[in-house]
Amino acid sequence: MSARPKKSFGQHFLHDRRYIERIVSAVAPRAEDFVVEIGPGEGALTLPLLAAAGKLTAIELDTDLIPGLQARATAAGELHIIHADVLKVDFTALAHSHGVERLRLAGNLPYYISSPILFHCVEHAGAIKDMHFMLQKEVVERMASEPGSKVYGRLSVMLQLACRVEPLFTVPPEAFRPPPKVDSAVVRLVPLTPEERHDANHEHVYAIVKAAFAQRRKTLSNALKQLLDSDGIRRADVDPKARAETLAPADFVRLAKVYGGS
Ligand code: SAM
Repeated sequence: MSARPKKSFGQHFLHDRRYIERIVSAVAPRAEDFVVEIGPGEGALTLPLLAAAGKLTAIELDTDLIPGLQARATAAGELHIIHADVLKVDFTALAHSHGVERLRLAGNLPYYISSPILFHCVEHAGAIKDMHFMLQKEVVERMASEPGSKVYGRLSVMLQLACRVEPLFTVPPEAFRPPPKVDSAVVRLVPLTPEERHDANHEHVYAIVKAAFAQRRKTLSNALKQLLDSDGIRRADVDPKARAETLAPADFVRLAKVYGGS
């Protein structure tokens, strides 16, 4: 139960029972759910999630942790471990291979790749019912921030265009072994329904948002000059002199549509 945590895998094992219970009750897994945990580690969340749901799939990259985890899980329920890098797991295919439209994701994420994991989830949002993630508190603040905020950026826009972002509670460093250098927070993400989702091309939105925030101090006409001229920006009903940090997520969708020619 006490392997030496590996820094290179972002291993900070949760040991404080109060936070473990709060996370499990936020997820509230039911027997009919297909729950997938990212980065089960030594099983701090895995075992109680498994006890509540009866079965669980977990994706872990560190080979050394898998036999111990599998052994500890035997009494708690049916645990299926996928030994893989989560960024290479196709959540849409995984859901469909289990005969469900949408799976539920949970995890105390490895912080060194938290943004790539979030962007990966956004790409599969149509196959995800909800997500409960532990992240750096500062990342959760960025995810939930609004236009005008200093931390509003690419992550805020891309996530808010795909999901409802609901910060739940913060978790101090002492709750982990070893303690991370930062505060953490748990967030719930609920993908928007097809009716609520925008209908612009994902790659076009991504290109516009990326270019706009790459030079966030510049006006949009400057930051987007490789993609749209001022007339194009105006056609999207956006002021070319505005800066990216003042635009609502829906403004980026209109810009992406003009960029894509629709
Ligand atoms: N869930 C455990 C807990 O709360 O104590 C461990 C959380 S620890 C912050 C992150 C976990 O993600 C570790 O078990 C680590 O080995 C695993 N991990 C790191 N990179 C990964 C990747 N690319 N794909 C899947 N798991 C990964």
